[in-house]
Amino acid sequence: MAVVNANYLKLKAGYLFPEISRRVNHFLKDHPDAPLIRLGIGDVTEPLPAACREAMIKAVEEMGDRATFKGYGPEQGYSWLREKIAAHDFQARGCDIDASEIFISDGSKCDTGNILDIFGDSNKIAVTDPVYPVYVDTNVMAGHTGEANDRGEYAGLVYLPITAENNFTATLPSDPVDLVYLCFPNNPTGAVASREHLQAWVDYARTHRAILFFDAAYEAFITDPAIPHSIYEIPGARDCAIEFRSFSKNAGFTGTRCAFTVVPKGLKGYTPSGDAVDLWSLWQRRQSTKFNGVSYIVQRGAEAVYSPEGQTQVRQLVSLYLENARLIRDRLSKAGMAVYGGVNAPYVWVKTPNGMSSWDFFDTLLHTCYVVGTPGAGFGAAGEGYLRLSAFNSQANVIEAMARVVATLG
Ligand SMILES: *Cc1c(COP(=O)(O)O)cnc(C)c1O
Repeated sequence: MAVVNANYLKLKAGYLFPEISRRVNHFLKDHPDAPLIRLGIGDVTEPLPAACREAMIKAVEEMGDRATFKGYGPEQGYSWLREKIAAHDFQARGCDIDASEIFISDGSKCDTGNILDIFGDSNKIAVTDPVYPVYVDTNVMAGHTGEANDRGEYAGLVYLPITAENNFTATLPSDPVDLVYLCFPNNPTGAVASREHLQAWVDYARTHRAILFFDAAYEAFITDPAIPHSIYEIPGARDCAIEFRSFSKNAGFTGTRCAFTVVPKGLKGYTPSGDAVDLWSLWQRRQSTKFNGVSYIVQRGAEAVYSPEGQTQVRQLVSLYLENARLIRDRLSKAGMAVYGGVNAPYVWVKTPNGMSSWDFFDTLLHTCYVVGTPGAGFGAAGEGYLRLSAFNSQANVIEAMARVVATLG
């Protein structure tokens, strides 16, 4: 008898995006010609930067020539890519991160899930509420939780609410936790963390010998020079933090797939009896056993992000989405809505009007404006009363969507 991983049966069966699709499809059946504008799912819409395309085309040609063909590459990624990442993304910001501490992968989604392989089963785990659902579901799959209650909260996890009332800044847990997921700029709220807030987390983690999982997938959207882009800008973070980065949102690699994880050398976890264990070595062992590296072609595409042309093109992409976010904020706040995020992030977190529920507001936007958002409640109980609008669309669509919403609400 083949026994399944029963932890999977605890999962709330992929509730959010399937439910959105169900409602949208139901609506489209009755209104097949409705000019729907989707500001829901967090996927980019603009094409790949020319510098990345050109580098990948050249790499394809190299793969077609026996003299330059590449087979398996290093599991950790090619050093020419890791050197550029270390120099541009970290050393240029004063972070003491070396190329040897960077692990190239095919996505931050997998990395944030896979990282649990090197940690034990007895850790106390904290997530924000609302939260990127991957952090929670991967812990459920790994057997780190009990069952979910009717608010969708899993027994055993520590939920840290982030709402307008606390300025989207979690209060540090009063009881010690061992693993903490932080995502800044935040998906879904678009909030950012100040240096002081991150310093408080680093101090907390060092006191409790905890590890921070810092997801910086949206760092390229930071416009405020006072906001740190990397956790390693915070003194002490090398002793307590693993950082996840991705080319998905800055360079439009959601369909191309390249990301990386930073594990500082000397970062320690512990055996149950309290002996220190080097986490870099465990992650290196994990990756070289279960992963065979990212395609040479894609790594050349990612490398081109750091060329002068690539940097200019990525900045243009990010500016386009940030201008969309500004338009969303501007139009909705002029119409009297409370809006958050969208300044250092491609997401605007909208307070539903008149105390409407997330799903009722979602339905109103769908049926009266033909605009698809994402109900905040789908990201956690504390997301109730909010709706996420994504800036990933054309400017024309964003302007049209906002005109419809303002005409309805204004
Ligand atoms: C989009 C996103 C990522 C990136 O995931 P990839 O697998 O690299 O495409 C990571 N974290 C969050 C919170 C995201 O929204």
